[in-house]
Amino acid sequence: MSNIDHTHDAAALSWVASANDPATDFPLQNLPFCSFRRAGTLEPWRVGVGIGDQILDLSAWGITELNALMARPRSERRALRHRLFDTLKAGAPEIELLPQAQAEYTLPCRIGDYTDFYTGIHHARAVGRLFRPDNPLLPNYQWVPIGYHGRSSSIVVSGTPLRRPKGQVKAPDAEAPVFKPSARIDCELELGLFVGPGNALGEPFGIDEADEHAFGLTLLNDWSARDIQPWEYQPLGPFLAKNFGTTISPWIVTMDALEPFRIPFTRPEGDPQPLPYLDSPAHRANASYDIELEVWFKTPAMAQPTRISRSNLRHAYWSLAQMLTHHASNGCNLQPGDLLGTGTISGPAPEEAGSLLELTQGGKQLISLPGGEQRTFLQDGDQLGLRAHAEKPGFRRIGFGACDGVILPAR
Ligand code: CA
Repeated sequence: MSNIDHTHDAAALSWVASANDPATDFPLQNLPFCSFRRAGTLEPWRVGVGIGDQILDLSAWGITELNALMARPRSERRALRHRLFDTLKAGAPEIELLPQAQAEYTLPCRIGDYTDFYTGIHHARAVGRLFRPDNPLLPNYQWVPIGYHGRSSSIVVSGTPLRRPKGQVKAPDAEAPVFKPSARIDCELELGLFVGPGNALGEPFGIDEADEHAFGLTLLNDWSARDIQPWEYQPLGPFLAKNFGTTISPWIVTMDALEPFRIPFTRPEGDPQPLPYLDSPAHRANASYDIELEVWFKTPAMAQPTRISRSNLRHAYWSLAQMLTHHASNGCNLQPGDLLGTGTISGPAPEEAGSLLELTQGGKQLISLPGGEQRTFLQDGDQLGLRAHAEKPGFRRIGFGACDGVILPAR
């Protein structure tokens, strides 16, 4: 059954003029959520909705925190979307909005738990090749949506500077590790899925119920220290190479806004099909999403950022529904506002890599930047930005806003 309705009509216009600009990330058909206040004030954070270059304040609607909204059934969340659409569509009475240029943002909701998956198979193969040349893709990869529990305390909103971490680094030919600032700071191009209602402990849900538990998507940069990672990651997985910072965009684009961009879930010829608990006819029909992803880079000497990679969520080996279903399949309880990272979504071509590790072949190949500078990994003062959008003939383009961060010197 299609969930596409009049709120996805490409011809629908808003009384907010900037929302009708074809280049905006936030047309009337998007309606993403954020947590905001007037910049430079100590006002309480408020839940808002992005429309063009403005924000609609939802505190007057009795919505004072996003987690409570996330806990509501999808039907109620969709009803709110319809109400927002009616409030902001052309012809509706104009109400006071706050220009985004006058706003500052915090994390959009309370993130109780953060799990990072590894659904980008091209990334898994490329990184596996660097760490284990003879055995790039471990045998469980095509059967299990691989993930690890990350740390929510170090998730920050776009624009928050991050300090270069120190850690244990051991050169392959060295006898002992040393403790020093990481020299291999990298990005990971990911989307983050915010959990909706979730499930009680001990009560898993089926794959066809997963959509009910998906609230929306954000951009997610899983900053990684590539010299700390190989020394610490065995046998229990990533730890301090990952948890010094994770940047997300301020905006959550709802799953309802993304309905027009669903595509069939398929597996390459010859690959194993998912086990029955991760498979269904409805899932195969439309569980993947066509969302364009981009990585932008800027050194302090550059006037403008330059795009260094582009990929697409369609390359994910496991769907968002499979991430949710698998996570809860042992009875683990997911809660409203939990965040699930997709893992680095690299495309099949080398220039579609979602990390510097891949783009530089493990730091061996320099990236040439406009102006003549070269980079392998991030230097102090470098800025990294993620962008995403979905577009399709017959529908308005939906964007995700910005997910930017700058690296500060180690302390
Ligand atoms: Ca990651």
